[in-house]
Amino acid sequence: MRLTGLGVSPGIGIGKALVLKRGARDLRFRIPPAWVERELERLAQARQRSREQLQQIRQRIATSVGAEHAYLFDAQLLMLDDAMLIDRAAEIIRTERLDAGSALERSLGELSALFDQAEDPYLRERQGDVSDVVGRLCMNLRADGDSMQAFTDLEGPLVLVADELTPSVIAQLDWQQFAAFVTDAGSWTYHTAILARSIHVPAVAGLRNATELIAPGAVLAVDGASGEIFVDPDPATLEHVRTRQQRREQYEQSLIEYRRLAPVTEDGVQIRVEANVESPDDAVRAREAGAEGVGLFRSEFLLAWGGHAALTEETQFHAYTHLVESMSPGRVTIRTFDVSETQLPLENQGTEATRAPLGLRGVRLSLAMDDVFQAQLRALLRAAAHGPLRIMFPFVSGVEELCAARAAVVRAAETLRGQGISVPPVPVGVMIEVPSAAVTADLLAEHADFFSIGTNDLIQYCLAVDRTDDRVSNLYEPLHPALIRMLRLVARAARRRGIPVSVCGEMAADPVVLALLVGLGLTEFSMAPTAIPLAKQALRGLRASEATTVAARAIRASTATEVEKLLADFLSARNHVKS
Ligand code: PEP
Ligand code: MG
Repeated sequence: MRLTGLGVSPGIGIGKALVLKRGARDLRFRIPPAWVERELERLAQARQRSREQLQQIRQRIATSVGAEHAYLFDAQLLMLDDAMLIDRAAEIIRTERLDAGSALERSLGELSALFDQAEDPYLRERQGDVSDVVGRLCMNLRADGDSMQAFTDLEGPLVLVADELTPSVIAQLDWQQFAAFVTDAGSWTYHTAILARSIHVPAVAGLRNATELIAPGAVLAVDGASGEIFVDPDPATLEHVRTRQQRREQYEQSLIEYRRLAPVTEDGVQIRVEANVESPDDAVRAREAGAEGVGLFRSEFLLAWGGHAALTEETQFHAYTHLVESMSPGRVTIRTFDVSETQLPLENQGTEATRAPLGLRGVRLSLAMDDVFQAQLRALLRAAAHGPLRIMFPFVSGVEELCAARAAVVRAAETLRGQGISVPPVPVGVMIEVPSAAVTADLLAEHADFFSIGTNDLIQYCLAVDRTDDRVSNLYEPLHPALIRMLRLVARAARRRGIPVSVCGEMAADPVVLALLVGLGLTEFSMAPTAIPLAKQALRGLRASEATTVAARAIRASTATEVEKLLADFLSARNHVKS
């Protein structure tokens, strides 16, 4: 079987499928023979717990509503002894070596097929009861320990197949075990895709139903560039994929020399290339890849790795200091937490209404949670004594928010000075990722020390296209005329005010698009470390003056397709001249 999705992190990975569903609450995998007894025991315990719960429910209903209404639970209790459900699941664990949850799901499927054939409507309706019982059993299986711990001793390499992967789930994984990630959800700018590129793990997203189609334990060959997944490939296909893998490695090897070269265009325009990182330890990777600094540290990943402890000033101070010192003398730009309320490791989080992606998020959340914000700002200001550090606010929509956030920095500095701690001057900048910020860039520029354009969000909010929804990924057009105009606005506003402006969205990592960005007058970029050598190669082969002419034409184009064609013609003409 061959599945195709969106290749979001290039490279080839081959390994056995480990299936995670519903935010890692359901884990499906093939167990080693030594685990059979353990899974049988888990099944027995879940059954016992389910029996006790059902008996209690039955009792409660019988006394509060009447014995005649308790019969439903008699039926469910009987199902816990049903050979076709429970004994069959145990048999699947023994013979097919599936974990208890997968085995139960399979025996439920077989039973449901039988119910479907039943003539008697009463019997057909009992199907719901069986799924209810299986749901309870699975809930009790989960209650019996940390599911993510369960596979740490499975033998790799594994390919993680998930419906959705959140940064906090990824944070629990030992990446060395994984040859690739495959997800039903997501697209190129999905945070998991960004992370996969950062840590250099091949990934395919937007598969929609891979978790249904791929059996736990199946051998998968994943091509993170083409988006193809070969399920249980025959030897010839496997050979073909391995050849691709070798070619990919040779290609990456050929780019290595660019790591150390300066990103200067053919006509002498000096460009600055920095790295986007998600962990303080990634600074080493960024330096090795040839980054001059860290252009975006997504500090919220500290929360994913460290949980509640990461909210404290001390933990953050150590993390930021480590990052700054590892990157020194290169500068580091740290973005304050860009999370929504529910992603903060706190109790008493908001209701559904406050969980929307356009709700209390980014700088809005920081402004609403002064304690959290002040602790982060104090940690940042203290870390700034250890090397060049810049503070950046995410999701700013206008001048008032920016001024309020700047005032919070002043307060944090005063607190520190009150404690006898000296605070160096720290540049404070703003991410331009909300359309209102882009359109009022001239106003924001008066209050910001620098801009960093977050095209991932800017594109999604400008075009009203969810960046994680693969069903509309064809509408997610980085080269849409609206976006090009916004980029020009922001670049001009920064130039007039004399403040630096960089692009830290994924757009900067595309060597074709880089030509356009340079043509628009942008000279600072930040991207995943793995994208840096290719970007440097592209920049060194570019004439900025020619890129300016192309950008002037692109500004007048009426569709993204026209812009794409302009860029393709420009680059192929240049390559032609050179060869
Ligand atoms: C962006 O929005 O472009 C960006 C860089 O931030 P993130 O991808 O973390 O939202
Ligand atoms: Mg963003």
